[in-house]
Amino acid sequence: MENTVLTKKLDAIDGKDYGALQALKGTYKIKYYDLIFEQIPKDPYAPPHTGIYRIQINRNDQNMVSADLSNEIREIAFRDYLSRVFYQACQKFCAGRRGTGYSGVITINEPGQAILERSSVIIEKDIIELRCFIGLPASGRSINAPIAKHMLLNELPQIIDHTFLMQYMNREILNSHLDIAEDTENLRNQLNQLGLVAFINDGAILPRMSGSSTLPLAPDSAVPFISPKKFRVECTLPHSGTIQGMGIPAGVTLITGGGYHGKSTLLDAISMGIYNHIPGDGREYCVSNPDTIKIRAYSGRYITGTNISSFIDNLPFAKDTINFSTDNASGSTSQAAGIVEALESGAKTLLMDEDTCATNFMIRDHKMQQLVRKADEPITTYIDSVRKLYLDLGVSTILVLGGIGDYFEVADQVIQMHNYQARDVTSAAHNINNSAPVKRQAESSTGSIRISDRIPISDSIDATNHYGKVGIYAKETHRIHFGKNEIDLTDLEQIVELSQTRALAFSINYAKKYMNGINTLHQIIEKTLHDINEQGLDIIDHRISPNFACFRSHELAFVLNRLRSFRVAILLSA
Ligand code: ADP
Ligand code: MG
Repeated sequence: MENTVLTKKLDAIDGKDYGALQALKGTYKIKYYDLIFEQIPKDPYAPPHTGIYRIQINRNDQNMVSADLSNEIREIAFRDYLSRVFYQACQKFCAGRRGTGYSGVITINEPGQAILERSSVIIEKDIIELRCFIGLPASGRSINAPIAKHMLLNELPQIIDHTFLMQYMNREILNSHLDIAEDTENLRNQLNQLGLVAFINDGAILPRMSGSSTLPLAPDSAVPFISPKKFRVECTLPHSGTIQGMGIPAGVTLITGGGYHGKSTLLDAISMGIYNHIPGDGREYCVSNPDTIKIRAYSGRYITGTNISSFIDNLPFAKDTINFSTDNASGSTSQAAGIVEALESGAKTLLMDEDTCATNFMIRDHKMQQLVRKADEPITTYIDSVRKLYLDLGVSTILVLGGIGDYFEVADQVIQMHNYQARDVTSAAHNINNSAPVKRQAESSTGSIRISDRIPISDSIDATNHYGKVGIYAKETHRIHFGKNEIDLTDLEQIVELSQTRALAFSINYAKKYMNGINTLHQIIEKTLHDINEQGLDIIDHRISPNFACFRSHELAFVLNRLRSFRVAILLSA
């Protein structure tokens, strides 16, 4: 087809009802690319994710952008990069909203600070396909063909040229995007053999512009990170050579210091160290073990069939904590369940911040131990479990605590944040601990930490909404609508984009196919992630989606565990 076909079609439907746009469905050859109208919304107000527009270019064409894609990480970073360039070109060459609803908009899912596997750009043997949104214009419901022609035959081609033509590409920026991704991944893979759970490089910019922004704080206000000598480690990377920074060893690490001295900011950087960040983010060389899970209390959350008995037993009215369920968790039970779910999911490092922990889960101090007998306290506090988690299960913990010195006793290393700089205060903390006259009594519960396998019940996953249709959507990063349920993800801290939330929402439904009454939750999630890794994000929905980004198995477990209809059969080991 020639693009005159497109022009003619547009002329024919000018002024007609928006529904007539369906006539555009199909493939058009424009310049060197194919433009495919796959799915056109029936309403100009329909949100961008309801439209599917595909652009395909021939990879073998010499004029097209290319890069060294010798491994998977580089390919993911390349696709991520093209999404960003397209997004920026849209800002530059598309005039934006013109008319009703989303009329006039050309855009792509907005990428954030992390380099992610995305469904917005995919690479096949001979083609690169980019999926975007085109808000076909209307006034009221009447199609505006002149603007549509301008968008499709003037704006879009410029956007595509600047995304795909080598002549417009800044090779240096492109290469550094891919090199950084590869370096970060390499660094993360070195952690284990170095006996580390996290690494923060010297010079890193950890603080963000504001509490609601993921952009770095301006260089003139941010204090760059410098490693304390004791924890200084050197690592050699494929592209950046040797870098130096703070290696946090496995075990129990306490981050302490005065209020507002940068403790939570450091922990957040560790928590985000599961991602590879874009050049300029400030956290490019801040990495953590890929199985690092942030734990927090979130009262009111749903919990189903979870064995929290290692942390909580003897609840009032003999409520079962081996197979614990509730529609309305307390702070401490939510935190205990969070830990058990994380262990079930394969956590290797747990992160906790005093700002979001339940105090009564963290400690019972000496005076409280005298007033309330252990027999009357259901909670085995974390201070009495944290070493067992490491010694028995090899699970490290990094804790931010400014106010509880009793933790000195259980910490392998203590880092003090002082004026946004890290200091090693391990010996001082241990000396204080050894010389303190009055100490709390350890209250360890007997035996090892118990994690029970859980078998999800397939019927408890139902995406059917009140109208009898499949209803799965996510409009906000921390909320999913799944069938008749709304999943509150306020406490899900380790995702960074709405596109991840969307993919998580659809993956719940996909995971159902492995719920056969035999597979455990962990197995089901592993199988789901395996399929996504092998076949791409497209498999989680029956339609092609331009709006998905990858997530870890832990996040999928996290979301399923908060779906209020979700039920499991718990397997208790003898
Ligand atoms: P804490 O947890 O110790 O109370 P935060 O980590 O919340 O402190 O940091 C307090 C404030 O200081 C935040 O606004 C944060 O953005 C800012 N901040 C943290 N680290 C730095 C830094 N390295 N340079 C400049 N500002 C910082
Ligand atoms: Mg804090």
